[in-house]
Amino acid sequence: MKIGIPRALAYYAYYPFINTFFEKLGLEVVVSDETTKETMDYGIDDTITDACVPIKLFHGHVRSIMDKVDYVLVPRLVSVNREATFCPKFLGLPDMLRCSIADLKNELEVRVDIKQSKLKLFLLCLKVAKQLKKGFFKAYSAYLQALFSFRNYTHQFLQGGIPPLGIVGQHKDKSIRLGVVGYPYMLYDSYLSLDLIRKLISMGVYVVTPEMIPDREKKRQGKKLKKTLFWTFSNNVIRAAYHFFERQDVDGVIHITAFGCGPDFIVDKLMEIDAKNYKMPFLTITLDEHTGQEGLNTRLEAFVDMLKINRAKKEALFA
Ligand code: SF4
Repeated sequence: MKIGIPRALAYYAYYPFINTFFEKLGLEVVVSDETTKETMDYGIDDTITDACVPIKLFHGHVRSIMDKVDYVLVPRLVSVNREATFCPKFLGLPDMLRCSIADLKNELEVRVDIKQSKLKLFLLCLKVAKQLKKGFFKAYSAYLQALFSFRNYTHQFLQGGIPPLGIVGQHKDKSIRLGVVGYPYMLYDSYLSLDLIRKLISMGVYVVTPEMIPDREKKRQGKKLKKTLFWTFSNNVIRAAYHFFERQDVDGVIHITAFGCGPDFIVDKLMEIDAKNYKMPFLTITLDEHTGQEGLNTRLEAFVDMLKINRAKKEALFA
C-alpha cells in the first residue's frame, strides 16, 4: 500500500515523524518531488487567486502524486499545544482541497488536535493505523519510532546548528551572521524561497533559522509578548526574532513572508517595530509565485553589503 505525502506545509515541520510512522506501519511512503514550476502551475490552476502561495503549492503537490498512490495524506492541523492553533487555512485545508480538486478521491484526512495531552497523539496514531487496517502493536511500535526520529532530528540535528533538509556546509566563523525567520514551508522549499538560504551561505553568511533555536529558549522569549499569538508557526517565528534581538549575536534579521498571508500582517509589523527598538537591521522579503530571482539577489546583496560595512565600522571603532 502506498501513501503519498505532499512536500508542502506541515511536511517541512514534521516530516521525520510522518515519514517514520507510515514506513514503520509497513506502507510505502511516496513523498511528492521537490517543487518545480509545474507543481506551482498545478496549484495556481486549482486554487482561488487570493490563496497564499504555500496553500497553492500544497494543491500542486497533491495533484502531482494523487494518481500514483493509494492514499494522499491531508492533515487538518488544529493544535499541537495548549497555547495556540494553526492558521485558518491549515484548519480548512481538506475542505479547500475537496472543493478545488474534484477528482481527488483518495485523501486520508487526519485531524490533528492534540492540545489536551500527548496521549492524544498516540490515540490519533492508533486511529490512523486502524483506518489502514494495521494492528495495535504495529501502531504502537510505529508511534514510538516516529517519536524517537522526530526528537532526534530536533534536538541533535537542528539544534546542533545545522539548518534542516540538507542545507549544510556552513561554518560558524563566517564574518556575517544572519537570523532568517519565516514559516518552515517558506524557508525550506527551495523553489518557493528562490533558494535563499543556500544563496546566503554561498555569499559567506552564517544562517540561523528558528528551528535551530531550542524550544525552551523560544518559550522564554514568548513572555515578551503581551499576548500569545493565535497561531503556532507565528509564535515560533516571532520568538526566534526576539531571541536574535535580545542576544545581538547576529548582524541582522531577514523575515521571509508570503504575499497575502493574514497572520504575517501582524507578525511582520511587530517584529519591525521591535527590531527598531533593539537597533537590529531588519529586512522583510515577500514572496509569491511571481517573485523574480534578480530582484531577490539585488536585495540580499545590498543587505549583506550594508551589514559588512556596519561590521567594519564597529571593528574600526574598537580597534
Ligand atoms: S500562515 Fe500565512 S502563509 Fe501560512 S498558510 Fe496561513 S496564510 Fe498561508
